[in-house]
Amino acid sequence: LASRTFKNGNTIVKVGNVEVGGDEIVIMAGPCAVESREQLFEVAEVVKISGAQFLRGGVYKPRTSPYSFKGLKEQGLLLLDEVKRATGLKIVTEVMSTENLEAVAQYSDVLQIGARNMQNFNLLEEVGKIKKPVLLKRGLSSTIEEWLNAAEYIMCEGNYDVILCERGIRTFETATRNTLDLSAIPVIKENSHLPIIIDPSHGTGVWKYVCAMSKAAVAAGADGLMIEVHPNPLEALSDGAQSLRPDKYNALAREIKVLAEVC
Ligand code: PEP
Ligand code: MN
Repeated sequence: LASRTFKNGNTIVKVGNVEVGGDEIVIMAGPCAVESREQLFEVAEVVKISGAQFLRGGVYKPRTSPYSFKGLKEQGLLLLDEVKRATGLKIVTEVMSTENLEAVAQYSDVLQIGARNMQNFNLLEEVGKIKKPVLLKRGLSSTIEEWLNAAEYIMCEGNYDVILCERGIRTFETATRNTLDLSAIPVIKENSHLPIIIDPSHGTGVWKYVCAMSKAAVAAGADGLMIEVHPNPLEALSDGAQSLRPDKYNALAREIKVLAEVC
């Protein structure tokens, strides 16, 4: 179902009035984790003014260490709901488990499946059964074929609104957190009709590299970008090292707009 041979043309995932996979580059920006009402609203304003369509923000956080901040959970969902009403931004947030699926689906416009859950087949089947677009991140060490098979799991349950998200894979390189596989863009475009967006924040793990990789992704044909932004990265409860300050994010958003016109 995810394969190019199954469908002519490209899939456009409609999220309200926003089209993912259409002519426009879609931007999903926001903090790694929702930390407080103040933090969320501050970032949301920046994201909104920059012209992004989506606000991202995790409230159920998959953390490598169980002692790290794991998100505001239900309280965070309510904050996302509030910020969505206030700004009109679409919300994308991660669902980690089938237990929270109903609640997350109620408050989000797009359900994010994180890299660590790309092969959580039970979760994939459950999101496949509901009518809500899914952002499927590539697994930490997954091949493109495995990733497309994960999309297949969702689609064969009836949900065809799948957006792929390349977020870097684990290699022997340690200069960056992950190795962002930009060649996934042409490979996916050749083999699948699904839209693909790029997450240069997790892809590099270093805020200084986010701008270069964002522009490269757009030039390579990505349908959108997912970028982490934090008002004070040094104090962030997760992924501060890869989060852009509002001024840097604004500058990047402007560059992307210019680039998108020529791509
Ligand atoms: C995230 O988007 O904050 C996240 C946890 O991403 P990934 O699943 O790609 O690590
Ligand atoms: Mn993150």
